[in-house]
Order: sequence, then structure tokens, then C-alpha cells
Amino acid sequence: MARKTVISQKEKERAVALFEIFRETYPEVRCTLDYRSPFQLLVMTILAAQCTDARVNVVCSDLFKRFKNPRDFAETAPGVLEEAIRSCGFFNQKARSIRESARMLLDEYNGEVPADMEALLRLPGVGRKIANAVLGECFGVQGVIVDTHCRRVTNRLGFTRHQDPTKIERDLMALWPPEHWTIYSHYMVFHGRAVCQARSPKCAACPARELCLWPKKNVRKTS
Ligand code: SF4
Repeated sequence: MARKTVISQKEKERAVALFEIFRETYPEVRCTLDYRSPFQLLVMTILAAQCTDARVNVVCSDLFKRFKNPRDFAETAPGVLEEAIRSCGFFNQKARSIRESARMLLDEYNGEVPADMEALLRLPGVGRKIANAVLGECFGVQGVIVDTHCRRVTNRLGFTRHQDPTKIERDLMALWPPEHWTIYSHYMVFHGRAVCQARSPKCAACPARELCLWPKKNVRKTS
């Protein structure tokens, strides 16, 4: 994250104007994972890879009744956790990440989720997207969460030309003060689901249309 992105004054003004549009359009924006602790959010963000938040919420409403803390997850018998999260997809890999992360939390962090980027990135299965989500949501440490919606919409808006999440994160961090970073990520999820969808973006009805730089926006009119 060391390289700095240089932003023109005009582009900064466009970014500010778009942020205001999203603020007015999505006043109730929030994380759509129903978590009650940093550890629950950590587990849920691992499960959310290639899965919907709605599915993760359903699975976890039962999961967190059976497994209440890192020790419960660390000590699950082989196959039990896998079966419980099967419908989230990639369940073997996700179960391994959750179990090994739980063990590391017990061994090195007294069973607590650390409020520190470098420490979070040491946990198996945890990358910058998950770390930024946990830090921003649970500890007030701002970061841009680059998920599939953020990557697609941010590219279309013209705030980045990259597909690599680390480069997108860097470009977005240069646009706004830190207090905007986490909430911008939530705006991207809401806008990406409701309007700027992957296959059929509703450009004709989009409140950001005047300021969006996507060249195809005028020819993709949908209801
Ligand atoms: S104008 Fe179209 S491409 Fe641009 S943000 Fe809106 S829906 Fe997405």
C-alpha cells in the first residue's frame, strides 16, 4: 500500500459529489452480515467468500447456537463444521480457515480478535478484504473493503482502472478522508445490488449517472 495515487482537483470534486449522492440515496447503509461480536464477523466474512450475505446469515443463525466461541470452533470433530457450513460453498477450505484461525486466536491472542491489520492478516484465510471489514465494523479502524461489488462499481464510476483489490483499495484511499472508507464500501454493496448490477445495470435510473464515467452507461438502458 506504499505507492501514492495522485488525484486532480477536478477528480476530487467528482468523488465528493458522488459520495454525497450515495449518502442521500442509501441513508440506512450498514454491514448486511448479522454479527454480534468481532469473532462472529470474522467467521461470517470467511464464509461470505463466493456466497451471499443472506445465505451466511441463515447458516450462522444456527451455527452460532452450536459453536459460541473460538474454542468451540477449534475443537470441532472432523467433518462436523464442514457439514454445518456446507451450503456456503467451498466448505472444506472455509472450515479449515475458521478452525485454524480459532486455534491461532486461542494460542496467540487469548481468544480475542486483534484490532490490528498485520495480526489479522496472519490468520489463515484472512486477506485485506476480511481484515478491513472486521477493523472498520468492530474497531472503528477505517479501511476500504474491496469485494466484487466494490470492484465492479468503482471501475465503472472511473475511480480506478485496476482489478487487483490492493490497487483499487489504494486508489480509493486517495480519494476521501479515512472516515469515508468503510461506509463507501457499504455504498458499493448496496448500489451494486440494487442498481449497478453486473449484467444489467440500471443506468437510466441511476442517481450517479451524470457523474459516472462508464462509456457504456448510455446504451444499457433497463427498467
Ligand atoms: S450509471 Fe450505470 S454504470 Fe454508472 S454507476 Fe450508475 S448503474 Fe453503474
